[in-house]
Amino acid sequence: MNLEQANTENCQVCGSHLDYFSNGKELLCNHCGKKETANICCARGHYVCDDCHGKDCFEIVRDYVLKTRSTNPLEIAETLMGCKDKVPMLGCENAWISAGALIAAIRNEGTYKVTDDQVVEVLNRTKRQAIGGYCGLTGVCGIAPAMGACFSVILNAACPKDRETAKTMLVVAKIVGVIANETGPCCCKNFVRKSLVEAIDLTKKVLDISLASNQQQITCTDIERHPHGCRKEKCSYFKG
Ligand SMILES: [Zn+2]
Ligand SMILES: [Zn+2]
Repeated sequence: MNLEQANTENCQVCGSHLDYFSNGKELLCNHCGKKETANICCARGHYVCDDCHGKDCFEIVRDYVLKTRSTNPLEIAETLMGCKDKVPMLGCENAWISAGALIAAIRNEGTYKVTDDQVVEVLNRTKRQAIGGYCGLTGVCGIAPAMGACFSVILNAACPKDRETAKTMLVVAKIVGVIANETGPCCCKNFVRKSLVEAIDLTKKVLDISLASNQQQITCTDIERHPHGCRKEKCSYFKG
């Protein structure tokens, strides 16, 4: 498989279209051989597990967000999503990008001290709960826990805590609401942008910091790439 293929085709192995089934079945990952219950495979039966899906991409996101000095999460996300030969149109690579973009912008703004380890912690937590296709399968798009991981790390939320955890959960609930208004079909690019716009507002309300934004200037360049079809006029980032 080359990356060019992974990007423009559907199945990462053979390029055929993907089937989504309502009841999971036992499938073997074509890359690592792991057997697990899954709900998506290609028309010819290929399955790629979440660990193998976007392996190189995780490192690209991590290295870039550790390095950038931008305080604008939308700008960071656009730069990463612009690496179209590395970042697929759909998939939880887009959740990693949104998590990395937000935590990097918070760190670069400077009010909160965020270490490199905490940036990586946000990405690792996101990876645990961002699972391909689960936007539709459970109603939780990976970008919701991505935003939650950023606030949790800053607020130091944890199971035994009180307000820290409640605030984190309320952020995630808001993000789920924002994403729900943008479905039909799901578009990871739109979800990243809308979630980060909401997260910029929430960082002001919850953390009292002002992050930069350039929402008005964003024009989507992925219209032709969407395997389920672009929502066009229904999407704020479709500009003709
Ligand atoms: Zn295939
Ligand atoms: Zn695998």
